[in-house]
Amino acid sequence: MEDNIFLKIIRKEVPKDFIYEDDEILAFYDIHPLAPVHVLIIPKKPIINIATMEDEDAVLVGKMFLIARNIARDLNISEKGYKLLIRVGRDGGQEVPHLHLHLIGGVRLGDNIRPE
Ligand code: 5GP
Repeated sequence: MEDNIFLKIIRKEVPKDFIYEDDEILAFYDIHPLAPVHVLIIPKKPIINIATMEDEDAVLVGKMFLIARNIARDLNISEKGYKLLIRVGRDGGQEVPHLHLHLIGGVRLGDNIRPE
């Protein structure tokens, strides 16, 4: 797998404040937030995207959603709601080839998040 910015973040080669970390998952604020709350939740395992994940990664991916839920609670956006987004591949608009779950909220969101 080719190197990318998220792999560098996982290796702690770029300074980054983490909202959450355990042995499998990291969460941090997006550098170009699309809303008042914009957090990225990523696995430490090098998985490119949902299209290439293995069946055995299902529990890990499920855990990413539980962590997103917990962060949303901690940031007090659970009640009003938020958007969870995973882009897959070129047509899905995925820019970084490492699986990441966007947690976006803190404002009433329309249908289009970063349209073409
Ligand atoms: P994608 O378009 O692949 O779904 O989302 C990639 C996201 O990663 C974008 O929202 C972009 O702003 C974010 N991003 C890219 N490089 C960095 C970085 O170095 N640090 C952080 N925190 N976010 C980044």
